Amino acid sequence: MDYPADISNDRAGRVLTIVWQDGARQQWPHALLRAHCKCTHCQSQRLLGRTPGEPPAPPRVEHLRMTGNYGLQLVFNDGHERGIYPWPYLRSLPADVPADA
Ligand SMILES: [Zn+2]
Repeated sequence: MDYPADISNDRAGRVLTIVWQDGARQQWPHALLRAHCKCTHCQSQRLLGRTPGEPPAPPRVEHLRMTGNYGLQLVFNDGHERGIYPWPYLRSLPADVPADA
């Protein structure tokens, strides 16, 4: 299982970057992370086959909370703040490879 070696959240640029222990680097726009929100509300909407509603404003990750070795809790600016993103889930999300990688 991969764990992050470095996590950085660019709130102004709305990008979250993780460098994994194997050296791989992934970068996700906050909007993509919000579209894959792991909070109970969004998960239940997906289980019902519904697309969770669009956020009212461009999504931004305001805070990160480490949840032990399990994953990362992302606190969005629109009140979606209870979603925990397990490390393998983050790793599986499509990511932009930054130009300077
Ligand atoms: Zn949500």
